[in-house]
Amino acid sequence: MNSAPSECTRDNMYPLTYSALSIDVEDGVNILMRDLFNIEIPPTTRVIDNVNILLDLFNENKVRATFFILGEIASTFPSLVRSIASYRHELGVHGYNHDQIHKLTPEQARGNIYKAKALIEDITGEKVYGFRAPAFSIMRNTSWALEVISDLGFKYDSSIVPAKASRYGWPGFDKEILRLELKNGCTLIEVPLSVINFMGKTIPACGGGYLRYFPYSFTRKAFLTITKRRPVIVYLHPYELDKGKYPDYFYDAKATMSLSRRIPLSFYRLNKGTVKRKLELLINEFPFKPIIEIIDDLEKNSVIHVRSF
Ligand SMILES: [Zn+2]
Repeated sequence: MNSAPSECTRDNMYPLTYSALSIDVEDGVNILMRDLFNIEIPPTTRVIDNVNILLDLFNENKVRATFFILGEIASTFPSLVRSIASYRHELGVHGYNHDQIHKLTPEQARGNIYKAKALIEDITGEKVYGFRAPAFSIMRNTSWALEVISDLGFKYDSSIVPAKASRYGWPGFDKEILRLELKNGCTLIEVPLSVINFMGKTIPACGGGYLRYFPYSFTRKAFLTITKRRPVIVYLHPYELDKGKYPDYFYDAKATMSLSRRIPLSFYRLNKGTVKRKLELLINEFPFKPIIEIIDDLEKNSVIHVRSF
């Protein structure tokens, strides 16, 4: 894959060079069992093992990140939350039990997000500023959630992918970090996920499956392109570093699926062995800081656009 990513932007807003590593802390096993098989199991300790790989990597390289934590992970493993905070990483909220916003009423979303925020703040004794919706589920038809998030006291949201994907995305949304003036009288800073134009499509090239599937040279070119104009917001999940087999009950459940549903599942595991090395390469080449500190930099330099919403 040697084609250079390209993108068009309206102007150069970002005089600083820091990007952000954001991690959505969830357990791949219990999320898959719930979403695919409707089977409820508690989060497994694999999430601890995988987060520890990231904490060691970040600590060795003296880099700090933003961890958006699921409420059920904080409830099950509060010591993991304390451990992440002890390295001075930023903590944010990823919802309570990974219900996507479009599956909730505004009242349910408010209760769900509040519960997770209160729990994480209670565990660490520190205020949480950022929110990321499960599966990037703030889209045009769930934009009401931005008012809920601002009303709950969050300073920023980082849930919008300004591209069209099969299950998420808000095509046409601004690519810049923006201050939204909302109808409820609150403001909320939106930190969109980074996208590039590639082969006629807009894709979130710097995270998740894209980080796994594409070679490092592709990710590096995307970084070089995007950081000319704005920070890169990288996203990943702890399970993307998990090279082990899933528990037998997962494979037993999978065996009951039709072939057409089983095949896409294979992609969940593709190239997991490459993610740690790619992160090392990125950290060695590009500077990173937590999202809240990038926002602070932008505010100090008065370079955040304001948009009525
Ligand atoms: Zn998630």
